[in-house]
Amino acid sequence: MIAKIVPKAILVFALLFATGGCTVNPVTGKSQLDLMGEAQELELGKSLYPRYTQSSLGTVQEPRLQGYVDRVGLRLAAVSHRPNLPWEYNAVNDPAVNAYALPGGKISITRGLLARMDSEDELAGVLGHETGHVTARHAAVAYTRSLLTQLALVGGMAYMEVNDTKNRNLYAFGGMLGAQLMLAHYSRAQESQADELGYQYMVRAGYNPEGMAGLMEVLQSEQKREPNFVERMFASHPMTTDRLAMARQEIAAAPAEVRNRPFRTRAFLEQTHHVRESRPAYDRLAEARRLLGKDEASKALPLLRQSVGEWPDDGLLRAFLAGAESGVRDRAHALRDAARAARDARGIWVVQSLAARLFLDASKYREALSYVEAADRILPDVADVELMRGRALEGLGRSEEAARSYKKVQRMAPDSEAATEASKRLRRLGINP
Ligand SMILES: [Zn+2]
Repeated sequence: MIAKIVPKAILVFALLFATGGCTVNPVTGKSQLDLMGEAQELELGKSLYPRYTQSSLGTVQEPRLQGYVDRVGLRLAAVSHRPNLPWEYNAVNDPAVNAYALPGGKISITRGLLARMDSEDELAGVLGHETGHVTARHAAVAYTRSLLTQLALVGGMAYMEVNDTKNRNLYAFGGMLGAQLMLAHYSRAQESQADELGYQYMVRAGYNPEGMAGLMEVLQSEQKREPNFVERMFASHPMTTDRLAMARQEIAAAPAEVRNRPFRTRAFLEQTHHVRESRPAYDRLAEARRLLGKDEASKALPLLRQSVGEWPDDGLLRAFLAGAESGVRDRAHALRDAARAARDARGIWVVQSLAARLFLDASKYREALSYVEAADRILPDVADVELMRGRALEGLGRSEEAARSYKKVQRMAPDSEAATEASKRLRRLGINP
């Protein structure tokens, strides 16, 4: 997948040179040198959002919760420096504690973080902070930097691709999408500015700014207690004691009317009820994924069994159970659980692509093809999925269509392991790759 991203980066980069240059920062009003104009910023955000969402295990399958998170976000966006961006906020299934913003106003918060907060004011603190990264164009600047770095590292990336895919297994879903690679890393100055902007937006939108400090405290105590869960959030948003001190200072200087605003807890607790109830099951999922990544399926299995026992209708948990079952060679249960998971979580890419892979490995090509199609509808043009389509078609004796898929894989991700496999299969079909 890295190989797939790099050509795109070059393309975007070429575009930047054609149209980018100096832009006026919407927050400071000053000119700044970045290589990404607003049109590119919007385009990049729009095209990456589905990929990031799916690599964070898809959206939480609760339309009411999604609507709620989006409404809180939009309330902040409306009073921000860039109210007219196509803002979108969602809640994703990643059990880790995290939130992130893509250029152009696409923002995600994980269920792991949602489950650890107590009020809408804290939620507004996170979303306000992320909104601040977007309005101050931090992502655009960081992307400019990361694209430059990526270009410099093309050789190194190709090596990583090969190295990575050697250990590729059913569970490296994030790796399959390659999305984590491009998450922006912000400087301390950018973090402080995002806090400052988030604070402003919260106050303008009617929230109690204490929510910002409360959020930071949640993150700090969580980091002490369970470092693994907070790691990623801290990687992109280092949480320092001075940030908390700054927030406290600002709150102390706010007018009493603002400081005494009531916390909005009721709607928040109602909307996040299920997410917090299922938190232990998802915490186990986080641990199970770590074990599966180390090929320790037998240790992951009891954790996932317990989670699925508690939430039998949760297709995402069940899909990972199927993965663990397959890891201990319990094929009958793996297929049964994968099929049920795919029915229960139709909108989640990892669930559909995992079902495709398990059925393919069991030579059940008709079913595999239908899961490939479901995965492709959620997130089109993923080389590994296209390769599975080819394999399923080949298994069904539809060689010409299979060959078309293999050729598509070669075009989509030349230099990838998927492309090497596609070439091998084309040769076996008697077609010169
Ligand atoms: Zn940040």
